[in-house]
Amino acid sequence: MTENEVLKIFEENNALLNGHFLLTSGLHSPHYLQCALILQHPATAENLCAELAERIKNDERIGTIDLVIAPALGGIIVAHEVGRALKVRALFTERQDGLMRLRRGFQIKPEERVLVVEDVVTTGGSTREVMELVSQNGGVTVAVGSLIDRSGGTLDLGVPRHALAILTVPSYRPEECPLCRAGSTAVKPGSRMRSD
Ligand SMILES: [Zn+2]
Repeated sequence: MTENEVLKIFEENNALLNGHFLLTSGLHSPHYLQCALILQHPATAENLCAELAERIKNDERIGTIDLVIAPALGGIIVAHEVGRALKVRALFTERQDGLMRLRRGFQIKPEERVLVVEDVVTTGGSTREVMELVSQNGGVTVAVGSLIDRSGGTLDLGVPRHALAILTVPSYRPEECPLCRAGSTAVKPGSRMRSD
């Protein structure tokens, strides 16, 4: 699956829109990304995550993986489907009182080799929090995977990283927005934009 094929699947499902959007941050952007609109289709989710799992498996730097983990909510389905493809268990973390935690009796055994996944990686903030939680529990993060890398490929998390597609998503203050300047009006996408 090429990057263009992946982006085409996103566009066909309206998970990636091109136009002129008003983000919840107040900034304007020519793109709108909502992975839930892809992941609502189980077969598509399964295919994309199997592709991501394949790339992780074929990366000789990574080696064995004992479990997959993702931050709730956005990453849960990705962890589940990548875990299915790799035939390992899939955990998720939850934020409680502002801190990323392992709840529901989930456990990471000492020295377990962990793959951290997300739907979208942008700044890597929540990814880093999950990696920290893994190491606090004695595990070792051996790689990070996401469906989309919105950092333009620049983010360095200190471990091998894979994404099915790399996007650079520019955002502008309204007074500096070239789309506004060209005469169009920013519209609000259907639901909240991911903050990360
Ligand atoms: Zn604008």
